[in-house]
Amino acid sequence: MLRVLEFLNLFMNEGDELLSLIKNSNYLIVFTGAGISTESGIPSFRGKEGLWAKYRPEIYGTFTGLISQFLIKPSNVVNFIFDFTSPILEAKPNISHICLAKLEEKGYLKSIITQNIDNLHSDAGNKNVIELHGNLYIWRCKKCENIEKIGKEKLSEFAKNLKKIQGRRELIRYINNFVKCKCGGRKRPDIVFFGEPLPFEAFEKAKKESKKADLFIIIGSSGIVSPACDLPYIAKENGAKIIEINPEGSCFENITDLIIIKRATEVFEELIKKI
Ligand code: NAD
Repeated sequence: MLRVLEFLNLFMNEGDELLSLIKNSNYLIVFTGAGISTESGIPSFRGKEGLWAKYRPEIYGTFTGLISQFLIKPSNVVNFIFDFTSPILEAKPNISHICLAKLEEKGYLKSIITQNIDNLHSDAGNKNVIELHGNLYIWRCKKCENIEKIGKEKLSEFAKNLKKIQGRRELIRYINNFVKCKCGGRKRPDIVFFGEPLPFEAFEKAKKESKKADLFIIIGSSGIVSPACDLPYIAKENGAKIIEINPEGSCFENITDLIIIKRATEVFEELIKKI
């Protein structure tokens, strides 16, 4: 069978090969990283335009770092929150997100495991989305654990108002008011900062889905964020074929069966016409 596939591959381009693998798969899982959303206008953290080129990750990537920076220079944190959230709040799903929703609707795609917090897979229509690093629009009270969904408009207004407010005291008052929970505790976005554990249930589910996969597609992930980056290896160990789509080449090259060195939208613009 492998021989036949290899022979056919001589006459196929990568897109056709990808389509054929998808159509012949029994349990397709897609694993996404920041790269799938760059073409929706959200820069990845590590690129030239990324946030870490401007803000030190050891400070701004941790919750305690943010709090201490706020005490030293609140305007730095306000700028960071604005720069971090604005592209996400303005983003819309691109053709890659839309194609993945269509693949789920058609029954090919079983789950998406994402490291992104931008909600774009759900916005595109995917129902089975496992969010390993949380979601910017879900806020959780640290005291009563209550979960609240905060809309785009409300978050945009918050970010814009933060930029307008002058003076540390006014800022603290405004932020305290926004994060106050009914129980008296404080809410924070339910996203995973550096050094924090992944949500237990999401990660367990992601591991189970990765084990079940016979085809596992990695889109736009540097593969250096742990423990999320273990999932492709789990899939491989359990017999899945591994495909990677990334314009900068493979980060998982020791396990990939097919590497497509292209932007995700280049690949999915073609694929969506054929499914
Ligand atoms: P990363 O920033 O470490 O790597 C992004 C990868 O995407 C790179 O390998 C890059 O070559 C590739 N890429 C860039 N443009 C692409 C395109 N058009 N098509 C396909 N691939 C493309 O991203 P990561 O591995 O997800 O890890 C970063 C962490 O930052 C994640 O944990 C994630 O939670 C978070 N993050 C999320 C968002 C978001 O929600 N959109 C944005 C930035 C960072």
